[in-house]
Amino acid sequence: MSLEFPLYRALNGSDTLYRIDGLRHFVEWQPLGKSRWLVHEHVAEIYPSQVLVQSLIQAEDAQVKLSREEWNSRRLKREEPEQEHTVGTIAKTAADPAIQEGIDLASWTTFGISAHAAHWISARSDDDVRFALSWRQERNSALLVMGGGSNMLMHADWEGLALHVGIRGVRVLKDEDGRIEVVVGAGENWHDWVMYAMKNGWHGLENLALIPGQVGASPMQNIGAYGVELKDRFLWLEAIHVQTGSLKRFDATACEFGYRESIFKSSEKGQWIIVRVAFSLEENAPLQTGYGAIQQELKALPEQSWTHSDVAKAVMHIRSTKLPDPKELGNAGSFFKNPVLSSDEFKPLQTAHPQVAHYPQSDGSFKVAAGWLIEQAGWKGKHRGTHGVHVNQALVLVHYGGATGADIWQLAEDIMHDVRLKYGVQLEPEVNQIGRH
Ligand SMILES: Cc1cc2nc3c(=O)[nH]c(=O)nc-3n(C[C@H](O)[C@H](O)[C@H](O)COP(=O)(O)OP(=O)(O)OC[C@H]3O[C@@H](n4cnc5c(N)ncnc54)[C@H](O)[C@@H]3O)c2cc1C
Repeated sequence: MSLEFPLYRALNGSDTLYRIDGLRHFVEWQPLGKSRWLVHEHVAEIYPSQVLVQSLIQAEDAQVKLSREEWNSRRLKREEPEQEHTVGTIAKTAADPAIQEGIDLASWTTFGISAHAAHWISARSDDDVRFALSWRQERNSALLVMGGGSNMLMHADWEGLALHVGIRGVRVLKDEDGRIEVVVGAGENWHDWVMYAMKNGWHGLENLALIPGQVGASPMQNIGAYGVELKDRFLWLEAIHVQTGSLKRFDATACEFGYRESIFKSSEKGQWIIVRVAFSLEENAPLQTGYGAIQQELKALPEQSWTHSDVAKAVMHIRSTKLPDPKELGNAGSFFKNPVLSSDEFKPLQTAHPQVAHYPQSDGSFKVAAGWLIEQAGWKGKHRGTHGVHVNQALVLVHYGGATGADIWQLAEDIMHDVRLKYGVQLEPEVNQIGRH
C-alpha cells in the first residue's frame, strides 16, 4: 500500500502547479514574473474551492497529472518564493532525510530511560513526514511519533520507526486591533515559543511557561497549568494522516479537548501527525492570576502594576522550586491525572477525609488532587534505589539512573493499588506508556 497524498498536478498549457495534500487542502504555485512563485494555500471548506479540489484530484480536463519528480523539477525551474502563505516548511521538497539505526532514546526522553529505536528519523517538513510514512509502510514497521519525549515512558526497545517531528517556523497570519493569529511549526520548543510570543507582546500563554516539550504535542493532552489550558488560545492545527498522507485542518471543536484529553488520545489515537498549530493571542489578554500560588508570588508588587511578564516570571519561579528539572533528574512531570469524580462519588470521600484537596468543577463534578491522595497514602519521597517518588511533589515519579520502564511502571501500579484500597479512587496515568504489553 502506498500513500494517496500528496498528488501533483499542473495546469494544462501553463506553468501553474498544484500539490493536493488532502481532500480539503491544496497549495497552488502561480508563476510570478520570470523567476518567482506566488504560493496560495487553500483549505477547501467552501464552494468553489471544494469543486476545484475534486477536479484537481481527477485531473479531468484542465489539469495534467505529474509524478513527484516531474512536479519538483518544474517547480525548481523558478526560485524559491520569498514568502509563503503559511509556515515556511510547507513547500520544502529537498532531498529525503536520512533514516538512522539503533538510536538510544534515553537522551530523547526526559525520563532518560534507555530504550533503542530500531530506526529513527527527524522530519523537518511535511514532505519529510510523508517520506517517513511511506518508508515505514513499505516495511510494515510500527510507528512512534516523538516531540520532546517529556510525556512518555518507554517500556521496551522500539522495534519500528521513531519519527521525531522537527518542523520549525513561526508565521503571523493576522495582526489586527491587538489580536494576533500565529501559526507555529510542531517542532518548535514549547517554552521558547511562549517566550518568543511574550517578547513580541502576544499574550495569553504566559501561565503555560516552562512546560517541557514541543508545540506539536501541546494539543495532544491539551496541556494546562495554573488555570490556563492550550484550548483557551488554540485556533486550529494541521495534521498528516498516517495511512493516506493527507493533510487536514482541525479546529477546536474537532479536537474534542477535555482535561488532559483530545481526540488524538481517544478515537483518533495513532492516526495523525500534527505538523503545525495556530494560536489566537492578544496584546491585552486578561491576566490569569486566580491561582493562590501566583497571587503569593505577586503580592510584593502593587496589583495595578502586574504585567504579563510578572505572571510568566511568577509561574517560572513556582515551577522551578516545585518540580524537578529533567536535565538534573529524570521525570515526565505529573505521572497521574487528577481524578474527576461525580458529586455522588466525591461526597463519601470528603466525609471520610474532610481534608481532601479538591477543586469544584463548573459541571458539578470535583477534581481531586492526586498528589494529595498519594502523599497521604505515604508515598511522597519513597526511594527504590534507581527510582522513586519525588520528595517535594508526590505526583512526580523520578528516575535516579539505571531503572527500566517496567521498574517505574511497577511503582506506578503499587501507588494506584494503594490509593484504590485507601480511598476507593482509581488513578490514571497522564504519561503515555510506550511499548507496554
Ligand atoms: C518537569 C515536567 C513538567 C511538566 N508539566 C506539565 C504541565 O504543567 N502541564 C502539562 O499539561 N504537561 C506537563 N508536562 C508534560 C509534557 O511536558 C507535556 O505533555 C508536553 O506537551 C509533551 O510534549 P513532548 O513534545 O515532549 O511530547 P512527547 O512526550 O514527545 O509525546 C507525547 C505524546 O504525544 C505524541 N506526539 C508528540 N508529538 C506529536 C505530533 N507532532 N503529532 C502527533 N503526536 C505527537 C507522542 O506519540 C506521545 O504519545 C510536564 C513534563 C515534565 C517533564
